[in-house]
Amino acid sequence: MTAATANAAGQTFWRGDDGYERARLDAVWHERKPDRHPAVIVVPATEQEVVDAVRMARERGLQIKACSGGHSFTCSSHREGGMLIDLGALTGTTVDAAAGTATAQPGASGRLLNDQLLEHDLFFPTGHCQSVALGGYLLQGGWGWYSRVVGPACGSVTAIDVVTADGELLHADEHHHADLLWAARGAGSGFFGVVTRFYLACHPRPRSMMVGRYLYPVSLTEDVLYWLHALTDQAPPGLEFMFHSRRRRTPDGVMIEGAPSPHVTGIAMFDSDAECEEALALLATCPVVDRASESRTNVPTTLNGLYDANAVVTLQRYAWVGDGLWTDAPAEQLVPAFQELCLDVASNASYAFWYPWSEPEYPDCALSITGKHYLAGFGAWTPPDDGRPYRDWLAGHLRRMEPLSKGIQLADENLLDRPESRYMSETALRRLDAIRATYDPDGRFYSYFYGEQDTPGPV
Ligand SMILES: Cc1cc2nc3c(=O)[nH]c(=O)nc-3n(C[C@H](O)[C@H](O)[C@H](O)COP(=O)(O)OP(=O)(O)OC[C@H]3O[C@@H](n4cnc5c(N)ncnc54)[C@H](O)[C@@H]3O)c2cc1C
Repeated sequence: MTAATANAAGQTFWRGDDGYERARLDAVWHERKPDRHPAVIVVPATEQEVVDAVRMARERGLQIKACSGGHSFTCSSHREGGMLIDLGALTGTTVDAAAGTATAQPGASGRLLNDQLLEHDLFFPTGHCQSVALGGYLLQGGWGWYSRVVGPACGSVTAIDVVTADGELLHADEHHHADLLWAARGAGSGFFGVVTRFYLACHPRPRSMMVGRYLYPVSLTEDVLYWLHALTDQAPPGLEFMFHSRRRRTPDGVMIEGAPSPHVTGIAMFDSDAECEEALALLATCPVVDRASESRTNVPTTLNGLYDANAVVTLQRYAWVGDGLWTDAPAEQLVPAFQELCLDVASNASYAFWYPWSEPEYPDCALSITGKHYLAGFGAWTPPDDGRPYRDWLAGHLRRMEPLSKGIQLADENLLDRPESRYMSETALRRLDAIRATYDPDGRFYSYFYGEQDTPGPV
């Protein structure tokens, strides 16, 4: 099975060992490699090796951070002087078709899991990019395919196996250690334990999937955005639609010269072709649709087709910064504010993004901030540039839009550059702190990453 990170299982690298630097860099998926050096990197081959690693960290007084797929935009798992547990090689999955459930280890990718579910006509709302590992994705909330219908993915996590700060392997579900399960559903990188397995409620697979795409000239950005805002309240949850302001690319990700332009994509997921076509017809209600420079609709697809198409948006070969906000703001405030970001998209691979949400139900959990609209920006650069202009570009625009914000999505957290961001309700935050104090009273696990002021080394 392909590991989520490039590190081979069953190895331990102390700083200075041969192979340490490669392991440190390979635990990050993209090219934003941090200048932070854990004292030791452990790549477990088994759950028991995770337990052993946590116990070793206790003995040596090291703080711990795990990583699963290394997709965090700020590389929140790499901390100076601590222990990094790279779970990328733990990719096991199981499916119980009769029960409609599955389990997945944290290094399993969404595509891997859905490939196993496909033959049973089951589905799990995995991330939009095939490489995103389930570990970090599920912990932060999980905004995936079909989430507008079935909710954020963490709401379909029914239990976890977790190694706690004292080196015990616990099973947490609604009846045992329910507070740990509550925290694992949305605490993201603030979670205080190492999750070694997720227990998942799966969903019936929508039988028909179709795509519609419309490309507009940049001069029509405002018209398209006003229409999109209005469509948010009308579209059925089975129509996932999104707006990108970005440059055009070939199917294999090569940039086509030109200004960033509005792209509207709709993915209809229903049980019949007729329902898909009816939902996608909504995309043709844009008042400037006759001026679209390109349009295709009712194109049948599969989940793997969607993964492939999405793989060219956030390309692995760049260093990335991401950041976003949830908002319920009215169109007359939101559209001008977001348009400014769209028209000021930084480098050739950077983009601005609007994702209308449908507010489905999900259990009470640490994930506690959503809204009608998710707006985000992603800046891309090529090392050795330090990316400062792109980071400043994005933080500047998001600070400007802050009065419209309800809070951020931990998927794209950028607490490093915007430490003031709200990522959880006050009530949830207080509860999370109390649970952390119970399970990790000495702060064995690093929490959210705010930068070098984080305390390194022994506790
Ligand atoms: C190309 C790309 C596409 C993306 N698409 C989506 C998307 O469609 N929807 C969405 O919601 N998000 C998306 N994201 C965001 C992504 O879900 C988050 O970055 C998530 O944290 C990645 O998981 P990971 O395991 O790869 O991250 P990592 O960088 O490995 O981990 C992120 C954080 O989670 C903690 N963590 C990870 N695994 C564990 C574990 N097993 N136990 C305890 N703590 C753990 C780490 O300590 C770290 O702080 C995308 C990101 C990228 C780069």
